[in-house]
Amino acid sequence: MKTFIPDLAYIDPKILKTQKGIEVRDKLESLGVPLIESRSVKIDEGTIQQKYIQSKKVIYVTANNQKKLQQCQPSADYMFHLSSSCPAHCEYCYLQTTQGEKPFLKLFVNVEDIIHVLEDYMKLKAPDITSFECGSITDPIALEHLTGNLKEVIEFFGKSDLGRLRVISKYDNVDSFLDIKHNDHTKFRFSINARYVISSFEHGTANFDERIIAASKIADAGYPLGFIIAPIMVFEGWKEQYDFLLQQLSYKLRNYKKEISFELIQHRYTQTAKDLILERFPNTKLDMTDENRQLKWGPYGKFKYVYPKDTSGEMKDHIIGSINKYFNNAHIEYFT
Ligand code: SF4
Repeated sequence: MKTFIPDLAYIDPKILKTQKGIEVRDKLESLGVPLIESRSVKIDEGTIQQKYIQSKKVIYVTANNQKKLQQCQPSADYMFHLSSSCPAHCEYCYLQTTQGEKPFLKLFVNVEDIIHVLEDYMKLKAPDITSFECGSITDPIALEHLTGNLKEVIEFFGKSDLGRLRVISKYDNVDSFLDIKHNDHTKFRFSINARYVISSFEHGTANFDERIIAASKIADAGYPLGFIIAPIMVFEGWKEQYDFLLQQLSYKLRNYKKEISFELIQHRYTQTAKDLILERFPNTKLDMTDENRQLKWGPYGKFKYVYPKDTSGEMKDHIIGSINKYFNNAHIEYFT
């Protein structure tokens, strides 16, 4: 897919004292992106919907000075961030409710400092391995062409005896990772879905075929590999489409002999998310008919609307059935 080019970039003056900051500025300049040196980002005009759309095209190049990492179970021990927000517009994205009215993108370019923090956390758990997730508040591949951050971090983990990295993405910009000596220390997980879900709700991401090709490149490069099928939805022809997805994946990955993990998550929404989605995507085709759902108490102190038991049971049986039909090296981590 075409890589993302922001409409406007703000640059924190302090990162222009670093080599990496200068490189990223030069890269943006060469792409013709207007640059503003500033300690803050200004997006004030327009309706809520306009501010949202505008924000997703604005980046702020700065440093990540976080010394204390949050836990990230069950995916990994801790999460860390090379960027925040992302240029895509997935209508159901759970980050919508946490990133405020103006989810502009932040790119952190002090990778050496970030790696030092990771090393500190590894020492705490040594000689045991510490695992880290870098896709909790961003898509770590979406902005890679502007920074090369993830490549540096994968190289670091490739040499580390004590750390493991987990990456999750809906993007296909993976070529720069294929020659890295990763030593199986980085696991790529692609978020994948039925063609209807990707084309209807995941605007600005790699499409169905591009994502499968990216996954097969990563598989050929020998990385540990997994898929998150989420959010799983019921729509006309859903059974055939999810079956087709798994059949296509298995065909493209037929030479990959390592285990492939699957995480399966059905679509759910909270009332807050629904209100925000309807505000930002007034013509959404997302089915958020409360009467078709059942309420479930969520871990963050809010009710969420999930599919009724019969439907989610059917979903689980069908998708796990297709995985087992097409893969003999699948490991299903969970269905929720
Ligand atoms: S790619 Fe991921 S982070 Fe970006 S909008 Fe879609 S779901 Fe959200």
